[in-house]
Parts: sequence; C-alpha cells; structure tokens
Amino acid sequence: MKKLEDYVVSIPDFPKAGIIFRDVTSIISDKDGLKLAIDSLVDNVKDLDFDIVIGPESRGFIFGMPVAYNLGKAFVPVRKQGKLPREVISREYDLEYGSAIIEMHKDAIKPGDKVVIIDDLIATGGTIEAIIKMVEELGGEVVGISFVMELKGLNGRDKLKGYNVTSSIAYE
Ligand code: IMP
Repeated sequence: MKKLEDYVVSIPDFPKAGIIFRDVTSIISDKDGLKLAIDSLVDNVKDLDFDIVIGPESRGFIFGMPVAYNLGKAFVPVRKQGKLPREVISREYDLEYGSAIIEMHKDAIKPGDKVVIIDDLIATGGTIEAIIKMVEELGGEVVGISFVMELKGLNGRDKLKGYNVTSSIAYE
C-alpha cells in the first residue's frame, strides 16, 4: 500500500536553480493519493473547535475545500490582489521567490470566529503569517494551521510560533 509521500514528485531546479519543487498535483491526480491527502488533513484538524476553513489561492482551495466539506465547516478563500468583488483586507508579504499581495473579504470573518488555515505547503511561512494577521485584524482566532507538506529547512514554523501547526509530510 502506497503512502502519501510516495505520490509526491520532486522536481530539481524548478522554478529556479537549486530549488527542489515538491509537486502536489501528482498526489491529487491519483484517486488513492487524493483520498490519502484529504483524509490526512481532516485527521490533523478534526478535533479542533472551529467554524471556518481558510485556504489561500490556489492550492489552498484544492485542499481546504474538501476538508471544510468533510467536517461541515464554511470555506473562505484568500485571493491574489484584485480578484475579490467586495470590500477587502489586504497584506503584502515576502515569498520564497518574490513578494505578493493577498486579500480576503472583510465580512468573511466576524469577531470571535475560530478558523483553521489549510494550504498545500509551508516554505518560509510568509503566506500563512500574512493570513493570520488579516484574520486577527478582523477579530478572528486561528486555532489550527495544517499543510500537506512542510519544507523544514526554510524554518517556516518560526513565523508561526504559538499556533497549532501540523503537516502530513515533512522534508528536511
Ligand atoms: P511560503 O509563504 O514561503 O511558506 O510559501 C508557501 C507557498 O509557496 C505555498 O502556498 C506553495 O504553493 C508555494 N511553494 C513554495 N515552494 C513550493 C514547492 O516546493 N512545491 C510546491 N509549492 C511550493
């Protein structure tokens, strides 16, 4: 029986020389890999007390939505700048390669809402740190953060100290 990590294809020198890109699309293009990934994320967060799953564009949608659906929670997308039609809260942050601005609808999180953030992968942790700041500015509480994959060498967890962080696969 294959394990979740067996479905990950690692691509050397993508998108830049020296980076090993861990491809999650190879997990979900196999029906058993997809089930293992979603079941594992559901397992990571199912005992937490929360109302909303937040997933960043675009792979956070792929993994966050089925977790929300499985656990009977709502889903709130975090999008790249300029995509959401109503009033937004924005944050600029540094990426492993470059920088970006992400946004959420201001009314998507109400004061006191408990949220779990789901994404495909944590590298430097910058994306999730920016999302945490937006959620907290809106009065929400981040009770859990879960990833399919964690690149430990980039020390992303250092930015998420004090939060409940889990990952299904960790690479040194
Ligand atoms: P961070 O903000 O540096 O933690 O970057 C995390 C984001 O970068 C994730 O949402 C990933 O989609 C993307 N990313 C960075 N490195 C990889 C990789 O090796 N494989 C897949 N996605 C990656």
